[in-house]
Amino acid sequence: MTASQPPPLEAVAGDITTQRVDAVVNAANTSLLGGGGVDGAIHRAAGPSLLAECQELRRTRYPAGLPVGEAVATGAGDLPCRWVIHTVGPNRRAGQTDPAMLASCFESSLREAVRVGARSVAFPAISAGIYGWDIEEVARMAVDTVGGSDLLDHLSTVRFVLFGREALAAFESRLSARSA
Ligand code: ADP
Repeated sequence: MTASQPPPLEAVAGDITTQRVDAVVNAANTSLLGGGGVDGAIHRAAGPSLLAECQELRRTRYPAGLPVGEAVATGAGDLPCRWVIHTVGPNRRAGQTDPAMLASCFESSLREAVRVGARSVAFPAISAGIYGWDIEEVARMAVDTVGGSDLLDHLSTVRFVLFGREALAAFESRLSARSA
C-alpha cells in the first residue's frame, strides 16, 4: 500500500473572501460580532446571515464570548465557501504575548474544519494586523503548527492567504524552510 501524501501547504497573495475552498478561517474577536480587518471583510462579503449565526452562537454557546485560541464554525452566507471558522487570536497590544495561544488558533481551527467535514481550508495571518504580532512570528507558528498537525491526513489543501508582499514573503520563506 502506498502511503498517502500529506496535503500541500501553500501561500498565496489575495483576498480570503474570494477563496474557493470548503472553509475559510476568520481572525475574529471574542465578541464574534464582527470587527475590522479580515473580520470586517468576511462579514461584508458574507452578508447578514453570518452575523445572525454569530449572534445565535453568542446567545447559546458563548455568552461571555469565544475565548482566545478556540475556534467555532458557522455557515458562510454569500461567500464562495461552505463554512467560516471563527477563531480569536491573542492581542499582543493587550499583553497577550504567549505564542502557544497563537498556535492554538491554528490547531483548533483545523480541528473544527475537519469536524464539520471540510477538506480544503484557507487561513489569514491571524493576529498579524490589529492584534499586533510580527508577521515572521505568525508565519512560523502557522506553518509549524499546521505542518505538524495529525489532522492534515483529513485535508486535501491548506492555503495561507496573505495581504501584502511582506506577509507573502514571510510565509513562503517558512514554507521553504519546512520542505528543505
Ligand atoms: P487580527 O485582529 O487578528 O490582527 P486583522 O484582520 O487585523 O486580524 O489582520 C490579520 C491579517 O489579515 C493582516 O495581515 C491583514 O493584513 C490581513 N487581511 C486583512 N484583510 C484581509 C483579507 N480580506 N484577506 C486576507 N488577509 C486580510
